[in-house]
Amino acid sequence: MSAVEIIDKIFSQSLKSKIFVNRDVLRPDYVPDELPHREEQIAKLASILAPSLQGARPSNVFIYGLTGTGKTAVTKFVLRKLYEKSLEVGARITVCYVNVRQDDTTYRVLLRLSECIGLRLPFTGISTAEAYRRFIRALNLRSTLFIATLDEIDFLVKKHGDELLYRLTRCNEELDQSKVTVIGITNDLKFVDSLDPRVRSSLGEVEIVFPPYNAMQLEDILRKRAELAFRPGVLDKGVIELCAALAAREHGDARRALDLLRVAGEIAEREGADMVTVEHVRKARAELERDRVAEVISTMPLHAKLVLLAITNLVSLNGKTTTGEVYSHYRTLCSKLGIEHVTQRRVSDIISELDMLGIITARVVSRGRYGKTRVITLAVPKDVVYSVLEEDPYASVLLPGNR
Ligand code: ADP
Ligand code: MG
Repeated sequence: MSAVEIIDKIFSQSLKSKIFVNRDVLRPDYVPDELPHREEQIAKLASILAPSLQGARPSNVFIYGLTGTGKTAVTKFVLRKLYEKSLEVGARITVCYVNVRQDDTTYRVLLRLSECIGLRLPFTGISTAEAYRRFIRALNLRSTLFIATLDEIDFLVKKHGDELLYRLTRCNEELDQSKVTVIGITNDLKFVDSLDPRVRSSLGEVEIVFPPYNAMQLEDILRKRAELAFRPGVLDKGVIELCAALAAREHGDARRALDLLRVAGEIAEREGADMVTVEHVRKARAELERDRVAEVISTMPLHAKLVLLAITNLVSLNGKTTTGEVYSHYRTLCSKLGIEHVTQRRVSDIISELDMLGIITARVVSRGRYGKTRVITLAVPKDVVYSVLEEDPYASVLLPGNR
């Protein structure tokens, strides 16, 4: 088949999908109109923000819970409704949502916040302090209630400190025409405790906790979504239940459940199947796991990759290996590349890190009078490791077959 024919085939197949009506509703950024099992959180956030419709400043809100518990979806949903209502009743409310993991410097967050009030800050050339001053001045002129929503705030604070958060929660003292309410959201429960008490107390005037979903709740969520995403009747018995059960085991993550369902559907479609079966869900799980592992490995520093390569080579030969063997093979790999190796101590730390990431399993065993060593096996398929290392300009040179 020619390239054009291949593309035509893919496009026309997707147009007459036997599986999907609208696969986009399974994507993570889709905000559904119905959010089952989050009635309590929706009601709480809505009642906190409601006074803004009459011009009063709502309390700052701090929202936390594990990933995939609906924090972003609920917040966006409530903000959208609030904004619609404000237009209806003529309240001066400006709603601003920033994901600070994407816009991950204080300056970029200020850029986004400024955009929400129609202020265009230059991309470079002024200091953060100056940007902040201009933002506050413009905000005041606008005489509005400004709801600044900072999602995944832990990313900003861990990298650049809590300065902006602190300022935003205090800036009402600098304003007379406008008011600011801050909604902070985080997936990181440890971050909540690590926040400076003065920031925590001003941000967390009200706190909303999002508990994990259980398997039954995930089933409800998936069913509602599946009705919009799939052709009627294409989901085999047990598909929703399995996706929900697998995601419930991983701390009740709705994103995980939806990913499993979407990828299962995509696999079924690629195979030309008429239905999505539990077998497709199992394959989806393996595929998602591969992606996760690939991402972890690809972002590791070079020496960690080389240690992992050493482990993978040795495990391919013998099924398992030890710390000593890994260190000596790792040194050989370094000398082939002509680079300096790190100390045995450091390699030992890398092995512990790989273990913690779930990429290898390292078990301490006693060797009698020879002391202790660690017996190491791979916790992920070796072809996944090799295919990711293939992408690394240094490690790839050392791969079996490339020598
Ligand atoms: P968080 O921000 O807590 O990590 P999200 O709000 O991004 O989680 O939710 C993850 C995914 O699950 C999104 O696609 C979201 O639409 C969906 N989701 C979460 N909770 C619900 C719910 N109660 N009903 C329907 N979909 C939900
Ligand atoms: Mg989120």
